[in-house]
Amino acid sequence: MAKRVGGQLVDALIEGLSDPALGVDKSSRIRFLNPKAAELFGVDARKAIDKKLWDVLPIDDFTRALSTLVNESDPEPKEQMVIFPGDRLFVAQLLPVYSEGRNTGVVATLKDMAGMQKIEKSIEQFVTDVTRQLKVPLTAIKGFVETLLEGAYQNAEITRRFLQVINEETNRLTRLVLSLEGAAQPDQTPRLNLRPLSVLTLVEGSLALFQDTAEEKNIRLVSEVSGELPLIEVDQEQMRRVIDNLIDNALKFTGLVGEGTVTVTATAENGQVLINVTDTGIGIEPAEHPRIFDAFYRVETGPASELGGTGLGLSVARTVVEAHGGRIGVESEPGQGASFWVRLKALG
Ligand code: ADP
Repeated sequence: MAKRVGGQLVDALIEGLSDPALGVDKSSRIRFLNPKAAELFGVDARKAIDKKLWDVLPIDDFTRALSTLVNESDPEPKEQMVIFPGDRLFVAQLLPVYSEGRNTGVVATLKDMAGMQKIEKSIEQFVTDVTRQLKVPLTAIKGFVETLLEGAYQNAEITRRFLQVINEETNRLTRLVLSLEGAAQPDQTPRLNLRPLSVLTLVEGSLALFQDTAEEKNIRLVSEVSGELPLIEVDQEQMRRVIDNLIDNALKFTGLVGEGTVTVTATAENGQVLINVTDTGIGIEPAEHPRIFDAFYRVETGPASELGGTGLGLSVARTVVEAHGGRIGVESEPGQGASFWVRLKALG
């Protein structure tokens, strides 16, 4: 009786396996084939039982490996055999079954690797995006340096303008590298070098960096930050990356609708300082709001999809803000612009 219950249990286990599985005995006859395997190979499981392997399944590397293993007296388990039944990618694991020290058959379980292909695809896409982002500033820097070397350096005004562009493009490269670094250790809390800082000092640096870009895009970049606000205790370099990223995005997505305004404001309330970067750009669907702070996430529909990007800026920004004990978020509707906010504890 116990044996019967055991048999039923084993049957139920095999039937219920979420992966295709089959077993053959010493004479290469199929002893079990679960529903997933029957579906994958397009065979009737009941009719397949007790039939020779090659009368049911095509003769290929997989069935050949199975019959080779059952015929060996002391076989080694064969792992990670890649097979393509029905043009799908599976990894098969072949396990010899021993009874009283003798090889009595082989059990094969198959793992669907479709998910793996998806991961590989997104890595490929990511590398393509990063490469494209690196190429743009590099090409600009190279172009301006070459023009200077060809003689443009003799004009002081041109030299100053070119150097400004080179400086800005180098900053873009630095930001990209920093965001990649941040993404490489997403779970690591950044080490902070906390110092009291005025919000005005923090924001002024970012505004100066982006003023030329804003002008080129016909966008007004405005600050409404007063010097009277309470100080905040932050790692200036890291928090600058956050504000830089918010302004960079605001200019990028406002540029898509043509002219517009990007406004940086800061207010104090309930022992906190609230910094807002508000734009008049394309806006973001509310359903996307929680996701845009995830690493590698980019809105794939609408005008934003054409811009490319790494989808890392906001995830690094969130890591940095949260490491300061603060919060970051967004308010936006499509076509209505976006307002990103950062809430930090005020000092004293
Ligand atoms: P990316 O480098 O791709 O811009 P981010 O993490 O900075 O990565 O942003 C993630 C996504 O959030 C962007 O791809 C874009 O779709 C959306 N987004 C961010 N900022 C804005 C904004 N100011 N206006 C509209 N969409 C935005």
